[in-house]
Amino acid sequence: MSYVDEVMQRIVEKNPGEAEFHQAAKEVLESIRPVIEAKEDFYRKEALLERITEPERQLKFRVPWVDDKGQVQVNTGYRVQFNSAIGPYKGGLRLHPSVNTSIIKFLGFEQIFKNSLTGLPIGGGKGGSDFDPKGKSDREVMAFCQSFMTELHKYIGANTDVPAGDIGTGAREIGYMYGQYKRLTGLYEGVLTGKGLTYGGSLVRTEATGYGLLYLTDEMLKMNGQDIAGKTISVSGSGNVAIYAMEKAYQLGAKPVTCSDSTGWVYDPEGIDLAAVKEIKEVKRARLTEYKNYRPNAEYHEGKGVWTVKVDIALPCATQNELDLEDAKTLVANGVMAVAEGANMPSTLEATEYFQKHGVLFAPAKAANAGGVATSALEMSQNSERLSWTFEEVDAKLKDIMVNICHNMADAAKRYGFEGDYVKGANIAGFEKVAEAMIAQGVC
Ligand code: NDP
Repeated sequence: MSYVDEVMQRIVEKNPGEAEFHQAAKEVLESIRPVIEAKEDFYRKEALLERITEPERQLKFRVPWVDDKGQVQVNTGYRVQFNSAIGPYKGGLRLHPSVNTSIIKFLGFEQIFKNSLTGLPIGGGKGGSDFDPKGKSDREVMAFCQSFMTELHKYIGANTDVPAGDIGTGAREIGYMYGQYKRLTGLYEGVLTGKGLTYGGSLVRTEATGYGLLYLTDEMLKMNGQDIAGKTISVSGSGNVAIYAMEKAYQLGAKPVTCSDSTGWVYDPEGIDLAAVKEIKEVKRARLTEYKNYRPNAEYHEGKGVWTVKVDIALPCATQNELDLEDAKTLVANGVMAVAEGANMPSTLEATEYFQKHGVLFAPAKAANAGGVATSALEMSQNSERLSWTFEEVDAKLKDIMVNICHNMADAAKRYGFEGDYVKGANIAGFEKVAEAMIAQGVC
């Protein structure tokens, strides 16, 4: 059996029930197969694949807190410190009832290669909890965040592990966690990113993932002789990534016509009213059902369906596995030309393969949504030098990083004879740097 297949089999046996982690590992290992097979004996002797798929450290802990009725609640906290070969662990904290070991490991594993692709010195990690901030009062969210950080603070630091936001963890949660870290350690340091602008946050961090997604999509289209201006776009989600993806899409002359949340989706042929979505989601923290109050002519549908609309470009920006084979078939039948993943692993493996087989330009998450973590790393740099850069400076750096990622993934694919396969290209480019650093650092 080939080394790649052997390791894949071992991952499934060693990590039973972790479907999302298996899926992420399979995607990466399949992509880097040509790199491994070119020097199989060497990589096998180094046990490089066993090492890279085994987290350096996994933390799982109790998070007790008291709700507004005086009732004690208990959640589970996680931090997976996956790989520190090229820098301190870096990756977000997800607060969502679906969080479990498999989800955090898949996200942490993906993060290794994504962070490598940015060209910045950051390793891979991820964390979170099954706590749901939805429907909780600010006091309850603070009680949870303080308890979560009371345990987590022992394992993180500006030079060791720097968490950030993710689903359910926005500026409010980062603020509460940062306050508690400072109180427990007495340190005022860049231990979290996504901080508010008054206490060490970076301009553009809020917009970074969505803006970065569009910079990369724009560049991918240009590389293929196309122009984003005038294109219609379907977006899923209506959170941080989706909102700023739509904002940059408008700035580049494209028109987003859909967005969604976990209860339903909106189709607005005139173009999504971004001010309305921001008010519903960022201010009121309400459901998209309210969108019709702002735009009576738009359609609101319960449940799934955002991928049934005929568009030129699809940007899944909600969550993992939200776009399956059936959705891919519908999009292709409707003539979609490009798909770029704003969320982490939003397309199933079958959907990804279908797009690629049918000539759709496909930018995988670890390249397309790397703008968030890249700007987090820029926040770390500003914290280290105790300076704040202007919006234009950070935005220009973000754009440069995304354009570079786009060319790096295209070049790596070409080098191994898979021109246009950006999934392989992104995984190979991300892997090569981490593997070289791991081997240089000896058996550790
Ligand atoms: P938010 O919590 O701000 O928004 C998530 C959006 O997706 C919401 O509209 C939410 O709807 C919807 N959603 C979440 N879960 C589901 C589900 N199971 N089914 C349908 N819709 C769902 O998160 P972000 O925008 O920050 O993150 C979105 C994705 O992007 C995630 O995969 C995240 O890991 C990834 N990402 C985020 C980065 C960042 O900088 N924020 C960086 C890189 C990747 P509802 O409001 O109803 O819950």
